[in-house]
Amino acid sequence: MKRTNYCGDITAQLLGTKQTLCGWVNSYRNHGGVLFIDVRDRSGVCQVVVEPNSPFFDTAYGLRNEYVIEVTGTVKRRIEGAVNPNMKTGEIEILVEDLKVLNTCIPLPFDVDNSRGVVEEIRLKYRYLDLRNPKMYANLLLRHRIAQAARRYLDGQGFLEVETPILTRSTPEGARDYLVPSRVHHGEFYALPQSPQMFKQTLMASGIDRYFQLARCFRDEDLRADRQPEHTQIDMEMSFVTINDIHEIVEGLMKEIFKTAGKELQTPFVKIPFDEAMDKYGSDKPDLRYALQLVNATEIFANTGFKVFQDVLASKGAIYALKGEKGAAYSRGHLDKLTELAKKNGAKGLVWLKVKGDAYEGPAAKFFTPEELKALAKSVDAHDGDLILVGSDVNKRTCQSFMGALRKELVKELPQTTDWAFAWITNFPLLEYIPEEDRWDAAHNPFTAAVEEDLPNLEKDPGSVRSYQFDLVLNGNELASGSVRNCRRDVQERILALMKHSKEDAAIRFGMLLNALEAGAPPHGGIGLGLDRITALLAGEDSIREVIAFPKTAQASCPLTESPNKVDDKQLEELGIAITGR
Ligand code: ASP
Repeated sequence: MKRTNYCGDITAQLLGTKQTLCGWVNSYRNHGGVLFIDVRDRSGVCQVVVEPNSPFFDTAYGLRNEYVIEVTGTVKRRIEGAVNPNMKTGEIEILVEDLKVLNTCIPLPFDVDNSRGVVEEIRLKYRYLDLRNPKMYANLLLRHRIAQAARRYLDGQGFLEVETPILTRSTPEGARDYLVPSRVHHGEFYALPQSPQMFKQTLMASGIDRYFQLARCFRDEDLRADRQPEHTQIDMEMSFVTINDIHEIVEGLMKEIFKTAGKELQTPFVKIPFDEAMDKYGSDKPDLRYALQLVNATEIFANTGFKVFQDVLASKGAIYALKGEKGAAYSRGHLDKLTELAKKNGAKGLVWLKVKGDAYEGPAAKFFTPEELKALAKSVDAHDGDLILVGSDVNKRTCQSFMGALRKELVKELPQTTDWAFAWITNFPLLEYIPEEDRWDAAHNPFTAAVEEDLPNLEKDPGSVRSYQFDLVLNGNELASGSVRNCRRDVQERILALMKHSKEDAAIRFGMLLNALEAGAPPHGGIGLGLDRITALLAGEDSIREVIAFPKTAQASCPLTESPNKVDDKQLEELGIAITGR
């Protein structure tokens, strides 16, 4: 190696030694003829000094930001007053004895140190510069450590890392596929896997017993703010397991992952049935760092004179209430915003009441009896100075959802009870009805097993059938989804039939798995954990793009490689493809 050490590792312990560093010019200063150069590599920066009489003065004088240099010199203590206690290398500097320019650098569109403030499109176009920023390096390092921790832990638990194909056929996660045309078979396409779901289940049928993979998953979804066309899952599947076995393995995994970031986790994680999560938090991924809960206030208004609530109750709907702590001080504009938020999430309107001493203020207050108002305040534990939000809807889930959206907004004002709030959300329904298509669809994964005792009701009352599906949530984010699967072909086919997949259709789409199931597949289950999101949370980043080396923009394009891109007519011809419109 040209270097003897990384820049960031030169400390007072190396005083008097000769060192060679290789790196980039982070900054340079001229103090009365003495040149100070901060040399940077991935470990940090080290100050290098070139005195006016040095034979390397001219070379040093010509240095510019991001020049690549090799510098040799003796480590000495900085003079008093020049010590920087905030830097690992802040006590020392290196007096230059040799200096080589290994490469120059053109003037750049942004400073590496300030890259994170630059418009994202530009950051991504010059990602090679952006990744020189120490925070970006720290993020990639953390991601690497998490990946290694996962591999070590899962290996220790007897999991085999098996790679599954990228060129495959459509998998069942329900998003749009990315398709790859076949040159050999004109008119036919591979699909990029939305996850290795069918392969990992097939591996269980093969007796692999415990599988994992850091798997790339491709989904051509309409891009919301923080989605990527490709994401990475810590993907796992295991045989002869119950839900609790899967939960325990994953809790152990999360403990190890958090350790790499210097954090101790308490396990087991709480388990919250889906119905309860909706009832208390209005979300299937509740942010449990905050104690605030919704309250089902339906009973309180059983005999209400308020027409809106009367109508809702007549249709067997629901009324939910939520406390806005100190919300009596909210302005009209603030309350209008909350109403808008509720409407955006499906509400027709929102009742608000300010608690002022013994009185309740708000446009709808006059419609309620003192007893109703008192009982309402008591139910949400609202006192003088607080706000009470009340929502109603003929559809209980709709009401829960928009109240959940309000909860998400209100907790921003509240203290956190913990930094990391994990929970398993369990007992999801197996199926949900799609009225527009008059069919049932998997609430999550079409291969999830139904609870055995509910199987007789599968065709009679599909909506009532419970499943072995679960999610792992952390601080309001869905980190993972998993389930115990159907291991029998006949049961799987009954479920697919409700989704309007005929036997023939199912055999075409999911044939590989169905065939494996009927050939002695063991009971099995698994989970896929979002590596990008886990890393982003541990890195303190809001966007997963900050923890992906080469992400795409919100328009699913890559400014760095300028993909997607048009291709030669010759390539299209070979594939038998004609573009009909651009
Ligand atoms: N394949 C599922 C997903 O991508 C995860 C699983 O059930 O294992 O969400």
